[in-house]
Amino acid sequence: MGIALVTGASRGIGRATALELAREGYGVAVNYHHNVDAATEVVNTIIAAGGRAFVVQADISDEAQVLAMFARIDEKNEPLTALVNNAGILFTQSTLENLTAERINRVLATNVTGYFLCCREAVKRMSHRHGGKGGAIVNVSSAAARLGAPGEYVDYAASKGAVDTLTTGLSLEVAAQGIRVNGVRPGFIYTEMHADGGEPGRVDRVKSVLPMQRGGQPEEVAQAIVWLLSEKASYVTGSFIEMAGGK
Ligand code: NAD
Repeated sequence: MGIALVTGASRGIGRATALELAREGYGVAVNYHHNVDAATEVVNTIIAAGGRAFVVQADISDEAQVLAMFARIDEKNEPLTALVNNAGILFTQSTLENLTAERINRVLATNVTGYFLCCREAVKRMSHRHGGKGGAIVNVSSAAARLGAPGEYVDYAASKGAVDTLTTGLSLEVAAQGIRVNGVRPGFIYTEMHADGGEPGRVDRVKSVLPMQRGGQPEEVAQAIVWLLSEKASYVTGSFIEMAGGK
């Protein structure tokens, strides 16, 4: 099955996706930024269940660290066949009037440049044009790309809009090279990200206005990602799955 790299896999949607990909038989590269203990726990959980996994540290917004991460994956001598661009950040809820250039650039550096860099390195390894075996990429976007996150984080929403355009453009660019590129647009998922926005209970606050009247679980998003990466989705590219309870 090859190696699947999941960025930001030490918690939340990335963690759930790493566990599910290991169950499917991939060797999982568990990328983390700071929390080696949490990433190691993910790897140990996978290995205890009979799967294969290893940790790879990198700040995805840093080009040198991304190159070093892919070089470490290359050392495994097993082809990289799947990439899940999942690592993402947002900052405290704020109106646009109060956004600084520093904050906007930090959001874009991780959520956009980081996704581009990991796509670039994955394509170099997967593309038939470079002698690769092909593969699949899933970019984790957000319902915020459609909804705009007014009064919360328009900078984050705009970064996810860019992710969607990346997904569309790259899917067309590499469609004839054995690589499929798709996106998921989650929203209102129970993870620790909302605490980073300053409101740990955000999902419970908004759930009553969602058509399904509940928040989502990371595992529900992971199932869609794993399907998009799988051969079951072999004719699907440039597509997006909405996962925001009907909103
Ligand atoms: P999370 O905060 O639990 O996970 C994000 C992970 O990315 C963390 O482990 C973090 O350490 C990592 N990360 C951040 N910056 C990084 C960097 N520069 N390099 C490497 N890793 C880095 O949040 P989550 O909810 O699991 O988010 C996962 C993805 O899902 C994100 O892209 C997020 O935008 C998206 N998303 C989440 C929701 C939601 O409701 N939780 C909704 C829409 C989209």
